[in-house]
Amino acid sequence: MAKTSIIQRWIKGSLLIMVLVLFAAEAIFLYNSYRELYGGVQHAIENRFSTIAGRLQATGTAGDSLETAESRGQALRRTVEQFDEKDKFEFMLLDAQGVILTTSSGTMTRDLTDGTDFAQALTSASGMGHAIFTTPQGERVMAVTSLVPYAAGNIAAMRMVTSLTLVDRQWGQYVALSAGIGVLAFLLMLWSGLFFVRSIVRPLGEVEATATRIARGDLQARLPDTKYNDEIGRLCGTINQMAEDLAETDRLKNEFISSVSHELRTPLTSIKGWVETIKNIDDPTNENYRRGLAIIGTETDRLYTMVEELLDFSRLQNGIQLHCEVLDLVAEATDAALFVEARIRQEGLHFVYEEPPEPYPVWADPARLRQVFVNIFDNAIKYSDPGGTIFLTITRTPETVTAAVRDQGRGIAPEDLDKVKQKFFKAKNSVRGSGIGLAVVDEIVQALGGKVEIASALGQGTTVSITLPVYHPGQEHLHETI
Ligand code: ADP
Repeated sequence: MAKTSIIQRWIKGSLLIMVLVLFAAEAIFLYNSYRELYGGVQHAIENRFSTIAGRLQATGTAGDSLETAESRGQALRRTVEQFDEKDKFEFMLLDAQGVILTTSSGTMTRDLTDGTDFAQALTSASGMGHAIFTTPQGERVMAVTSLVPYAAGNIAAMRMVTSLTLVDRQWGQYVALSAGIGVLAFLLMLWSGLFFVRSIVRPLGEVEATATRIARGDLQARLPDTKYNDEIGRLCGTINQMAEDLAETDRLKNEFISSVSHELRTPLTSIKGWVETIKNIDDPTNENYRRGLAIIGTETDRLYTMVEELLDFSRLQNGIQLHCEVLDLVAEATDAALFVEARIRQEGLHFVYEEPPEPYPVWADPARLRQVFVNIFDNAIKYSDPGGTIFLTITRTPETVTAAVRDQGRGIAPEDLDKVKQKFFKAKNSVRGSGIGLAVVDEIVQALGGKVEIASALGQGTTVSITLPVYHPGQEHLHETI
């Protein structure tokens, strides 16, 4: 399918034009040779006429005009009789009606009078006329007639007729030659063009076949990387990279699903076990009764977090819906801080936050913005050691507002720093988690027209900053779906 279409496009776009140009060149060449050949014959005759006319002028200028006319007529008849190119031309003299008076061969054949040259000479301004016709014997001839410019008795015109057999043969050779060259040039164009087009189509076919295999799910299919070192080679490289990335995402996704299912089983087993235990305890003051309830509580929290992660995951897959409105980033951050502060303290950490005095308006979705803060704080808590401090700072420039969460935790290795925003990526220092928290943060913030920056030093801590554009009235178009 693709194969035929590129060749068809080449035929339409390139070959057709080249063929037209070739045709035009041949037509010009043939037209010029025709004019040169047949015009040459006509010219030769006209030259002879003007020589004769020149000689006539000098004839019998003395005496009265009647005598002069008579002597010119005689001179003309003599010229015809003594004409020395009889083998090439039939020279004849015509009267005012176009009737042949005398001919150089002496035969007064009517066969040569068919031409319209005499009539043409009578009407044309130059007094010349010419015609090409076929004699009853089947010979093609050219006739040229020139009116005699002086009175010469009953002679009104000179006429020469010559055979076109040789000229026709030469013209035939020209036509054959140019047709031959044309066909040869066409074949050459076809061959070189097909060679070139096929050199593109064939590797493209391979690329297409492999890409189809990848699309059908064979993520191990690869193209030979080094075979072509042109655009096609680079395309192969890109497709291989794409397959590589797909395979990696697929692997991470499977890992994510299996780790989540495993993690779901542990709290569920624990909850189920404790429910069984509590069922048999009648006394609510029993030590195990309280412990059981407490454990069921924390395990339920863990399940809740995991379900949130699963939701994040499905949002990432299906696109995050945003319902934006004008919000005060300071108020949102303060809310989020209040929400996590208890947990921060529970983990033995300190929290420092200085609330800016004025509101910083942004155009955002409150639920998704909350999720951004929760994910960032969650990481800060998760990767901090007891006794550490988590800082929240909010700063603004005329056009942007930045919220930064800094911790004094274990930090991220420099080689992992670029990748922590990728879906499912977990750095070496990772504890529990599925690797999608920061990917969700990044997607949401980008959809809101902002950016996420992460700075970190191993053993010293990490700062995650989100920067959003400051809202100016009329920016509602930022409402987007990703
Ligand atoms: P997870 O759900 O595993 O925390 P994230 O996308 O939130 O996934 O983070 C990706 C990885 O980045 C984590 O596995 C962790 O290794 C690293 N990371 C994120 N935040 C921090 C932080 N504040 N301190 C140290 N490492 C972090």
